[in-house]
Formats: sequence, C-alpha cells, structure tokens
Amino acid sequence: MKKFVAPSLLSANFACLEKDIEMINQSQAGWFHIDVMDGVFVPNISFGPPVIKFIKKLAKKPLDVHLMIVEPDRYFQVFSEVGADIITVHYEACTHLHRSVAAIKNLGIQAGVVLNPHTSVSLLENIIKDVDLVLLMSVNPGYGGQKFIENTYRKISQLKEMIELHNPDCLIEIDGGIDTENAKRSEESQKLRAKV
Ligand code: ZN
Repeated sequence: MKKFVAPSLLSANFACLEKDIEMINQSQAGWFHIDVMDGVFVPNISFGPPVIKFIKKLAKKPLDVHLMIVEPDRYFQVFSEVGADIITVHYEACTHLHRSVAAIKNLGIQAGVVLNPHTSVSLLENIIKDVDLVLLMSVNPGYGGQKFIENTYRKISQLKEMIELHNPDCLIEIDGGIDTENAKRSEESQKLRAKV
C-alpha cells in the first residue's frame, strides 16, 4: 500500500502562502490537504474556492479538498473547477451519501468519505466499493493542534479489514493530531488486523 503525508494548509502562513506551497512542492509530501470550514458544520471558518484557485496555480501535487461544510453537494462543481483532485465529504453532512459520491465522480475527480470520531466504520459497508478514500478524523473537526483520539487505532483496523474485503484500492487517510509516534502506530494498526 502506498504511504504518504498530506500536510494541511491550515497551518500555513497566509501572509506568504507561496513560500509554504513551495516548501510542500519540494518535500516528500504526497498531497496538499485543504481544510474547508464553513462555521456551521464546524465552529471555525477557514477559506473557500478563491484561495484554492491560487494554491492550484502553484501546487505541483494533487489537491485533497476536505469539505467540513453543510450541504456540500452545492459546491462540488466550483471546487472541481478551481482545481480539487480529490473531494472528501463528511458522512455526517450528507443525507444521500451515495448520490454525493456519484456527483463528485461525475466531475472526473476522486471521491472520499470522512467519519467523525464518534461515527462507526461499519456504516460504510454499503458505500465502501464506491469511494477512492476514507478519511478517519482522529480529532473532532474544526481546529488545528488538537490531541489524537486513541480509539482511532481501533477504527483503522476495522476499516482496513473492510477495505481488504471490498475495495483493496481504497486509501485510508487519518486527520488530526498526527505526530511521528501515532503515525507509526496507525500504520501498525492496519497490519495487526490483517494478520488475524
Ligand atoms: Zn482535514
């Protein structure tokens, strides 16, 4: 399985965004992770399509756009037009998740689903075949710099098992409070379950 880091631009210095984008271009990071927050689905507000359009002009790696917004379907088209390569939507924000995933794919880009810390992996059973990526929130979404929630390891194992059975090409992404120690344990959680 391919393995890489997708740094979040929430931590970037927006006064000199160009410099931070270039730093990620030069690094071994695989993707740009872009957190879009609307102040409704999550407490914070981040940025929207015009900023992403600017990032796209300079970025030499795929843009992984994580929508933490209500009614995300209204914005798929615009986010794809400004350069999203992957759009991930929250399970908790989509009443008709299958329709949302199909709408993203119809734009010719990849589709992912995000689960909040309290949302069970088993709820993905009927959508797992249709997605390119599952993102597990390892903190409650809305702020940078939070502490990694330990239960995430259990969810990674469950997800890995489901993916191996139904969609081996699907990627697993972990978002929030990641450091070198828990990144290593997250990786081990996948292997442990695979052996059982
Ligand atoms: Zn994110």
